[in-house]
Amino acid sequence: MNTLEKINLLNFDRKAMQAFFAELGEKSFRADQVMKWIHYYGVTDFAQMTNLSKALRQQLQEKTLLAVPEIAMEQLSKDGTCKWLLRLNDGNCIETVFIPEDGRGTLCVSSQVGCALNCTFCSTAQQGFNRNLTTAEIIGQVWMAVRRLSQQNNEHDRHVTNVVMMGMGEPLLNFDNVVSAMNIMMDDFAYSLSKYRVTLSTSGVVPAMEQLAKLSEVALAVSLHAPNDTLRNELVPLNKKYPLKELLAVCKTYYGNDKKRKVTMEYVMLEGINDSKEHADQLINILHGVPAKVNLIPFNPFPNTKYKRSKQINIDKFRERLMRAGLITITRKTRGDDIDAACGQLAGQVKDLTKRSARAKLAAMEVAVEARTDLNS
Ligand code: SAH
Repeated sequence: MNTLEKINLLNFDRKAMQAFFAELGEKSFRADQVMKWIHYYGVTDFAQMTNLSKALRQQLQEKTLLAVPEIAMEQLSKDGTCKWLLRLNDGNCIETVFIPEDGRGTLCVSSQVGCALNCTFCSTAQQGFNRNLTTAEIIGQVWMAVRRLSQQNNEHDRHVTNVVMMGMGEPLLNFDNVVSAMNIMMDDFAYSLSKYRVTLSTSGVVPAMEQLAKLSEVALAVSLHAPNDTLRNELVPLNKKYPLKELLAVCKTYYGNDKKRKVTMEYVMLEGINDSKEHADQLINILHGVPAKVNLIPFNPFPNTKYKRSKQINIDKFRERLMRAGLITITRKTRGDDIDAACGQLAGQVKDLTKRSARAKLAAMEVAVEARTDLNS
């Protein structure tokens, strides 16, 4: 059997792993053991899985493989933020970012190569869509980060305590693989993250949000960015399909009877576009009765964009207005400045390593991955 025909066990969450072991005629606790070897201990060599029989190890060796993404580049910021460029089997590249903060470490994970949506302020959109990531490629980002961080000698904390699905792509358009990967993140035999510490961010794919509420308990973030349909249609064109009224209706009931949880509303601050007093008041209005907290994200400019980042004073005023109305509002801190400055260089250095299309997607992603953190508080 050649490598291509072998099954990558990183594609399986616990249920799928148990089903696979049942097919092999093995007891389900074998699946649990293998889960633990792969994700908890980080072992990718069957020979080291010493609590499995030799025969089973042999069988796994023949039928399956444990493939993780390859690190093409690693950049470490002075403040401890770390970015990885990961190369996938087909030559496509994705990026994963780790952001250490007081007492926590947030990993920003990608769900697709490129993006099919056309948000005007997001440069990933300009690159178009290439493909969905597999479960193995999504959880592989976590696998890789946990291992690499433990090897880094750094004064900043190196533990992944939170994951945000805020890298490249729209996670809800890769629903099954993303849900499986998040199951593994929360699995006690794997990464043991609590449901409060895994966040999925969506541009508002309403039917998939309804599905997600039924299937997963992870925290939800919504890329709101505008307080009325006219403006949101322009910034997040998906709004034409699922307008604010429908989007906010799902948010209202998203956590069911759990009154303590709130949906994070991401709001990119664009100068002269969505950052006025009136916009703040409209936002307060539409969020009335919605269990929400607001995350203001200063816009990260990219080449040929028509937008500018709002002035700090306007971001502060906007935030104060929302706070006075009783909305918990956080402004994203700028992190990893020194490696952000090197973003253009990263694309340049990648030139010889990746195909042109992958390079363009990467450059686009530089922007999208900046916009997370301050979540899972
Ligand atoms: N597609 C999902 C996941 C991406 S998360 C979503 O839309 O939620 C990345 C976050 O960064 C989203 O809120 C996105 O709208 C925001 N973002 C994209 N481009 C940005 C930019 N140039 N500056 C600041 N935030 C940006």
